[in-house]
Amino acid sequence: RLEIKHLRRSFNGRAVVDDVSLRIMPGQVTCLLGPSGCGKSTTLRMIAGVEMQDSGEIWVDGRLICDTVFRIPPERREIGLMFQDFALFPHLSVADNVAFGLKGMSRADKRARVTELLERVDLLRFIDGYPHQLSGGEQQRVALARALAPRPRIMLMDEPFSGLDNRLRDGIRDETLNILKDEDTAVLLVTHEPDEAMRMADEIALMRDGKIVQQGAPYNVYTRPVDRAAVAFFSDAN
Ligand code: ATP
Ligand code: MG
Repeated sequence: RLEIKHLRRSFNGRAVVDDVSLRIMPGQVTCLLGPSGCGKSTTLRMIAGVEMQDSGEIWVDGRLICDTVFRIPPERREIGLMFQDFALFPHLSVADNVAFGLKGMSRADKRARVTELLERVDLLRFIDGYPHQLSGGEQQRVALARALAPRPRIMLMDEPFSGLDNRLRDGIRDETLNILKDEDTAVLLVTHEPDEAMRMADEIALMRDGKIVQQGAPYNVYTRPVDRAAVAFFSDAN
């Protein structure tokens, strides 16, 4: 499980993430939903460890991974990342892309894990192909396989589907959800689209100006908006 406690970050004297706390259980998808610039990506970047918080704590499975004095580096956090612009390595085969995060395994074990994952995303036929031979949606599924390969307990996703056309997007959203639930991963998914949050979340955390202004089951957040701005956000975006 992922717990963040009182996370804060300012840039140039302006609080961009302002006392954000969240708890995400295994197999649960929480959507961080809010308008552009409200601090969603900054929150994710601090959890990933590529941005340092001014204050607050990050815990994974009951273990402190970062506060203001103690800090585990990004590559040892056992957190999977899937970002829209987090592209595949063009010079590596599909198999090598998926195997990228697998350390300390024999070649045979790596190949077995890669095969298993490519089967799950229905791309086994491309195992020895290269990224440029795949469509955008197929590349995104390889990126999912790559992120899942080391069996992260936590998966952070920042608008991972926004580069895909509508027709593809629904299928990949559902497929991604099924796989993440099967692997019992705790997921924090960032989006500025209420539709996507309604479709994918077990819980929505509505963010505005660096703060979480409302949190709950999608139906409750949608039908009982906390204030006028929340009403406007849900109706404008549709
Ligand atoms: P979007 O939906 O557009 O991706 P977001 O909610 O992810 O928006 P962030 O990327 O977290 O927003 O940015 C929040 C605010 O912090 C923005 O006003 C941004 O300009 C500012 N910001 C982010 N990173 C930095 C930085 N390194 N230096 C200065 N300002 C920053
Ligand atoms: Mg962002």
